[in-house]
Amino acid sequence: MESETRNAMSKVIDLRSDTVTRPSPAMRKAMAEAEVGDDVYMEDPTVNRLQERAAEVFAREAALFVPSGSMGNLTCIMAQTERGQELICEAAGHVYNYEMASLAALAGVLPRVISTTDGIMTWEQIAPAIREKIYTRPQTALVALENTHNMAGGTVYPTRLAHAICDRAHEAGLKVHLDGARIFNAAVYLGQEVAELTKKFDSIQFCFSKGLGAPVGSMIVGSNDLIGRCRMIRKMLGGGMRQVGVLAAAALVALEDGPKRLHVDHENAKLLAQGLAQMPRIHIQPEKVQTNIVLYDIGATGMSSSQFLQQLSVRQVLGGPVDDRRVRMVTHLDVARRDIEQALKVIGEVVGKGL
Ligand SMILES: *Cc1c(COP(=O)(O)O)cnc(C)c1O
Repeated sequence: MESETRNAMSKVIDLRSDTVTRPSPAMRKAMAEAEVGDDVYMEDPTVNRLQERAAEVFAREAALFVPSGSMGNLTCIMAQTERGQELICEAAGHVYNYEMASLAALAGVLPRVISTTDGIMTWEQIAPAIREKIYTRPQTALVALENTHNMAGGTVYPTRLAHAICDRAHEAGLKVHLDGARIFNAAVYLGQEVAELTKKFDSIQFCFSKGLGAPVGSMIVGSNDLIGRCRMIRKMLGGGMRQVGVLAAAALVALEDGPKRLHVDHENAKLLAQGLAQMPRIHIQPEKVQTNIVLYDIGATGMSSSQFLQQLSVRQVLGGPVDDRRVRMVTHLDVARRDIEQALKVIGEVVGKGL
């Protein structure tokens, strides 16, 4: 009993990312009991079931299970570009900043980035970035959107805007990829189905390993033709997995149960943002927090974000730096409302004192 109390008190509140969740007992049970086969032969019944279910949820022809979101994005980029072509994406986007430059190093694609304040691009910003059809110029092949936008603070594309970008891009002969790592968070925020949000994209990647709570895995969704090409590219990248039904089983639980509770993460993020807004020397606009990611500026404390985060971590609260002044915290299924209250108490102590 005593040690339980101690454990409870010393519990680390990990707000670095929604990737840190541990599989639930239901997931572990499903994993232990999963029926498996060799997925490179397309004979893993659990993977097949997961892919069919994902295609159904997104109202698309087909889907392909991949080990990570980064591989999902890269696979979709490679399937829809040729070496030397250009991809238009947002300047703070994941494909440009957090995937080891794989789009350049492995796909041979030149990124053309557009800076925004909230991660959300408009067609008016994209159109001038499309290359003229002059043979000495690299040719634009693909536009990539990110919904929700991670480093802009979990911001959501208005569906009409995303649809308009797809329509205009298609008219211009371009394909459009969606990095939908957190597309279910966007769907919960908007009160719309993911199938509706994503219906005009040529390829979609979404993560099971973020807010949905699975330990591993992402999915690519699209046409039969796209998925056929992606399956070959996935193999080329070393992502052909064998009895991977053990992971697909967890992802199936995540796909069915995960979206139902994301609103709780959004409420907790709001609570965190509203609490932070009350504190001296912290700058945040809580009304801008839409989903499960909270960005705030601690520059006025006189601490750098790494000094600030160090002060929090000795008090068992973890966050991540965005840059020297800004901090990012992400809510997920392993943090409860009381953990947010505790995190706010700790942050209050740290900013109250300053350095
Ligand atoms: C997490 C994430 C990915 C994929 O990350 P992996 O760690 O490779 O699974 C892709 N895009 C965004 C926006 C993400 O947040």
